[in-house]
Amino acid sequence: MTLLELKNVTKVFDDNVVLKNINVEIEKGKFYSVLGPSGSGKTTILRIISGFMQPTSGEVIFNGKNISNLPANKRNMNTVFQNYSLFPHLNVYENVAFGLSLKKIDEKIITKKVKKALKLVQLENFEGRMIDELSGGQQQRVAIARAIINEPEILLLDEPLSALDMKLRKKMQYELRQLQQDLGITFIFVTHDQEEALAMSDEIIVMNDGIVQQSGTPVDIYDEPINHFVANFIGDSNIVAGKMIDDYLVEFVGKEFECADAGIPKNEKIEIVIRPEDLDITTKENGKLVVNVDSQSFRGDHFEILAHDEDDNEWLIHSTNFAKEEKGIGLFFEPEDIHVMRLNESEEEFDARLESYEE
Ligand code: ADP
Ligand code: MG
Repeated sequence: MTLLELKNVTKVFDDNVVLKNINVEIEKGKFYSVLGPSGSGKTTILRIISGFMQPTSGEVIFNGKNISNLPANKRNMNTVFQNYSLFPHLNVYENVAFGLSLKKIDEKIITKKVKKALKLVQLENFEGRMIDELSGGQQQRVAIARAIINEPEILLLDEPLSALDMKLRKKMQYELRQLQQDLGITFIFVTHDQEEALAMSDEIIVMNDGIVQQSGTPVDIYDEPINHFVANFIGDSNIVAGKMIDDYLVEFVGKEFECADAGIPKNEKIEIVIRPEDLDITTKENGKLVVNVDSQSFRGDHFEILAHDEDDNEWLIHSTNFAKEEKGIGLFFEPEDIHVMRLNESEEEFDARLESYEE
């Protein structure tokens, strides 16, 4: 069920178009990530959803109603900010209770709600602590408890884990995902970290330059990136220029290869993507492509090998085998490991093309 929709949302600051015709549908009860590099417009999208900012044009639809002009405090959503925005002169209980206390709700009800929220973020018995007596991870939890106490339909989180060290970050990723499932509400989580988005989300919305590049499940986006930006931004990839020869046949590095893509005009210039883990090292005779090794290193569960082909394209290979020779080794891959990207394909065209293969 669609809970929230952005329709043709554009945001312009002075002469700077920061969001360009954003169309997004958010379903109830799912975990969404808005993923993109710094400056791609992630925070601006979140502010427009929350009502802290108005779009220059376009609409925000929530539960079927146009809420574009509804103030933030009238929307049944809450935001966890990057810097937590906690009150240092109040203790944990007072911070979490703050919004409810303003509304003059009965103290008994407030106490019950605060206890429940603190339990959800595993901070029982921390009510009396001051904010500066908490670790970064605990402050983060207080900010989340404060945001969920009113049982919002959507929780918006703007890079909430970026201040935490790696280990705590991983732990909080897991806990946030768990919390979202326990609460059963919709989370919209902003991050610039592709690994984080892949690990946590039901759906990822990939942004660059104020444009939604691609949206879909983590597996869809990883396996079928729509364009160069997405292929490069999400995981490691080898991207090489090529040409569509026929349905299920592409050419790159001067050779023809069987692939799994069809429905693209013949002779169209394309780019192909092959993920490093889909490449394997073999003999020159058994290889589909022959490369020369530039360097290789052991990475625990695989070897990371850098190589180049006769056209000087670089190849990154994650192989369980070590390359015994440096000159003229074979690379092996299956037809379905070749992902074809058209230049300038819209997301609608791309989705239609993928669906046509699946039938
Ligand atoms: P992200 O969160 O992805 O890093 P933002 O949404 O914060 O990106 O910003 C997107 C672009 O909009 C940036 O170029 C930023 O400089 C610009 N921007 C954001 N807020 C404002 C503002 N209030 N006034 C002018 N420009 C802004
Ligand atoms: Mg931001």
